Amino acid sequence: MTAGTPPVVLIFAGSDPTGGAGIAADCLTLASLGCHPAPVVTAVTAQDTTGIKQFACVETELVIAQARAVLEDMPVAAFKIGMLGNTATVSAVASIIEDYPDIPLVVDPVQLSDRDDALAEEPLDDALRTLLLPRATLATPNSREARALAPGADTLDACAQELMSLGCEYVLITGTHEPTPQVVNRLYGHRRLLETFTFERLPGDYHGSGCTLASACAGALAHGLEPIEAVREALHYTWNTLKHGLRLGMGQYLPDRIYWGGGPVARRKPDEK
Ligand code: PLP
Repeated sequence: MTAGTPPVVLIFAGSDPTGGAGIAADCLTLASLGCHPAPVVTAVTAQDTTGIKQFACVETELVIAQARAVLEDMPVAAFKIGMLGNTATVSAVASIIEDYPDIPLVVDPVQLSDRDDALAEEPLDDALRTLLLPRATLATPNSREARALAPGADTLDACAQELMSLGCEYVLITGTHEPTPQVVNRLYGHRRLLETFTFERLPGDYHGSGCTLASACAGALAHGLEPIEAVREALHYTWNTLKHGLRLGMGQYLPDRIYWGGGPVARRKPDEK
């Protein structure tokens, strides 16, 4: 990387026209954290802030061509995987990533939207378990995703152990969906619970929080932070984007990925010159 240039993070994700989740969320997050996002589109969704209307997966060959074009042109410092949409794309992405074993990989194993709409043509648990999670530096399932990916496990600790036994180096299980007064996020690595990060539970209903968190983790890793520090930074950043969430449509709040500023033009009030 040339001194002074931002680290490039290659994203595999679906598009979301609200800008709340998916590629727009990843790009905003990564730009906000001083990275250059390189977005490979895996699927196109039609949705608003109340739910998914429809989606279509991009042809696997075109997903591969997008990724190869970037990888042959730019020094990629981290990968971030979000919506993949079908088994063929999981398999294609896994085969690309296999060629770059030294690049950190963050996997957000998303198959459902936060409103429980499908974001995949078929269940992807087996493909994720066998093809992508073994190569992940960090997986960021929420507690529901962790249980789905580790169906034999009876506790979240056991889910994390199972995911690590597949080869996943670190597992961050987020606690938003758990019935606890505060949100407790658990980071596992080296076969044990490393740290719990507890946050005030915010009252809103948010769209794109998981994408924001996983991208922020990838951005922090791309900057060279150690995984534990990367996760700590990413969780604090994400919580702040939610605390400053914006209700731009009629449904869920969207995280404000540039809550910290964004410059005088971007943040000028309508009556200001
Ligand atoms: N990717 C896309 C394209 C989506 O539409 C969604 C949710 O609707 C997600 C990922 C996951 O969103 P979240 O960050 O809320 O888990």
